[in-house]
Amino acid sequence: MKSVSCIFCKIINRELDAQIVYEDELTLAFRDIAPAAPHHLLVIPKAHISTINEADNTHQALLGHMLLVAKRLAQDENIAEKGYRLVMNCNSQGGQTVFHIHLHVIGGRNMHWPPG
Ligand code: C5P
Repeated sequence: MKSVSCIFCKIINRELDAQIVYEDELTLAFRDIAPAAPHHLLVIPKAHISTINEADNTHQALLGHMLLVAKRLAQDENIAEKGYRLVMNCNSQGGQTVFHIHLHVIGGRNMHWPPG
C-alpha cells in the first residue's frame, strides 16, 4: 500500500527525482540526498511501512531481503572489505525524519561508536 504524501513512495513512483542505483520487485535503493559519508545509500521497501514498529511477521522475508540488498550494494560500491555501517532509525528519538522505513548503507570513512 502506497502513501500519497510519502516522499519515498513518490521516489518509487518516479514522481520525485533520486539517484537510483538498484531496483527489484520488493525494494529500491538510491543515493542519500545529503550524504553523511563518501558512500551513503538508502534501501527502501516498495511497500509503505512507516517505522520498524509497524513491521510484523508478514514482513520477515522483505526485511531480510533489504539486508541482502544492502550487502550487495556495499560490494558494488567497493566498501564491503574495509567496512560499512547499516542503520535504521526509528521515530523521533531514534533520529527518523522520513516515515517510510529505510536502511542507510554508509561507508568510505571510519565510523564512530556510540553514534551521536
Ligand atoms: O533516518 P532518517 O529518516 O533521518 O533518514 C532520512 C534520510 O533520507 C536522510 O539521510 C535524508 O538525507 C534522506 N533523503 C533523501 N532524499 C530525499 C529526502 C530525504 O535521500 N528526497
